[in-house]
Amino acid sequence: MNTPESLLNRNYAEDRIKSTAQWEVVIIGGGATGLGIALDSAARGYRTLLLEQHDFAKGTSSRSTKLVHGGVRYLAQGNLRLVRDALRERWLLLKNAPHLVKKQAFIIPCYSWFQVLKYLIGLKFYDLMAGKHSFGKSVYCSKTQVVADIPGINTKGLKGGIQYYDGRFDDARLAISIARTATEKGAVLLNYARVTGLIKTQGKISGLKALNMETDEVYTISSTVVVNATGVYVDEILKLDLMQQPHLVRPSQGVHVVLPRSFLSGEKALMIPKTSDGRVLFGVPWHNLVLLGTTDTPVEQTLLEPQALEKEIDFILNTAGFYLTAPPEKKDVLSIFAGLRPLAAVNKSSGSKTKEISRDHKLVVSGSGLITITGGKWTTYRKMAEETVDKAIKTGNLRPALCTTKSISIHGYTEEVSISQLSVYGSEEAWIKHEMTHDPALAERLDVEYPYIKLEVILAVRLEMARTVEDVLARRLRILFLDAKAAMRMAPVVAAIMASELFKDEEWENEQVQTFLKLAENYICNH
Ligand SMILES: Cc1cc2nc3c(=O)[nH]c(=O)nc-3n(C[C@H](O)[C@H](O)[C@H](O)COP(=O)(O)OP(=O)(O)OC[C@H]3O[C@@H](n4cnc5c(N)ncnc54)[C@H](O)[C@@H]3O)c2cc1C
Repeated sequence: MNTPESLLNRNYAEDRIKSTAQWEVVIIGGGATGLGIALDSAARGYRTLLLEQHDFAKGTSSRSTKLVHGGVRYLAQGNLRLVRDALRERWLLLKNAPHLVKKQAFIIPCYSWFQVLKYLIGLKFYDLMAGKHSFGKSVYCSKTQVVADIPGINTKGLKGGIQYYDGRFDDARLAISIARTATEKGAVLLNYARVTGLIKTQGKISGLKALNMETDEVYTISSTVVVNATGVYVDEILKLDLMQQPHLVRPSQGVHVVLPRSFLSGEKALMIPKTSDGRVLFGVPWHNLVLLGTTDTPVEQTLLEPQALEKEIDFILNTAGFYLTAPPEKKDVLSIFAGLRPLAAVNKSSGSKTKEISRDHKLVVSGSGLITITGGKWTTYRKMAEETVDKAIKTGNLRPALCTTKSISIHGYTEEVSISQLSVYGSEEAWIKHEMTHDPALAERLDVEYPYIKLEVILAVRLEMARTVEDVLARRLRILFLDAKAAMRMAPVVAAIMASELFKDEEWENEQVQTFLKLAENYICNH
């Protein structure tokens, strides 16, 4: 099988790292923020390298609520600039990645006329702020309409609802597609490469040390500018710089549960605007299932695999239970996942709760010239990247070049988006379908219940730098986040295909399966 060319390739990246004497921009962290910066920087013509300690989007960027949104909640908080910027970025994302971002209608059920009025006025203002970038008009819906849109909604006291529009996407898929776009613009990206130290010349950052986690090779890398885009880990990199413990971020955990589609069988998403702890809760159709979330729990530890707390799962299920006639129970949960928000740290004495801390991003330049960017939202990744590269040009005295990402199509861009699960591959879907008919063995499913096929595993390895069974099942195919038990069933066949692709032996294959099964246990709801 002749696969399309991809420079998101390990051998290529390792060779380029060894043969490049001086980079202009090196980025630490391969989440939404880092990948966006790599794309922006490479598109402006800078020699750009990105290093990720685990897999791309392993951190927060695969654990979002999957919304491309202006942030209705931030409107209520009066953060108009954040909302305006996010609404514009929402539109740009739909324009540049129509194969990955979809318009999504949301229904807010209202149980008093005061709520109807309040949310209608608020969302009309949201529409106004979106202006020509609007995804659709917010309107009042009668009680009958709400019941038709959200079958199973609790009708006791229901007065009607408000329908408004935002966007929905697949976060890790978009991350991989941005990674490929960045390599097409000339950036070099390597996963499983952990930055372990910073190098300074006369007090200024001049490079870094990184460990290739697969080969144990240590790279000494020179760069004009180094960007710390490590999300909740920014303080660890700052510590390497400052030699003291900084407190730029305060992690806050958000949990999601995934349920069968029967709990929200229509096409519209449910938005619960005020939970008992004053947050919002979303029920979003996602890959033919339903995603419910999220929570906001301050945590001390920054784990790559954050653990959902029992009370967070209970909170989500109980809150949804108030609004649905058939309340979801733990036994219905197909998968649970938690992510950490890198919220800007605030003075503890101010007593702010994490839900009140700004979701805006923070961009700071240390005395050493290290640039740190954290916070923000997936939706605003492009704008954050633009600001960061602008800052890099000033900090590193790079030759000036203008940002072009507003008009860069994301890898796979196509105007003819299909409705199949393969649509995430965009323009590559036709080629995939051709290969499937050419060799039906490649079209075999990984599991009878889900449409994922063997060819996708091969593509993940050959084109998307997937290195482990987890990379494939968690972030290339998303099944771990959708249905953890199904992902466990798929692990042996995925390991066998990967072993053959990567020339690994049976021991590797078995070890991969065991490691994955252990990890997947954390995504199962024990009741
Ligand atoms: C529960 C939740 C729901 C959310 N929902 C939404 C939503 O619906 N819409 C939206 O727009 N936004 C949402 N967000 C926000 C969004 O997900 C984040 O803003 C975004 O993913 C942050 O990306 P990042 O690249 O900054 O961080 P991360 O994705 O965490 O990436 C940082 C990367 O740095 C790597 N790293 C760390 N240390 C090193 C090192 N030493 N060397 C190399 N690499 C290193 C990590 O492995 C990690 O992959 C949500 C966030 C949470 C937590």
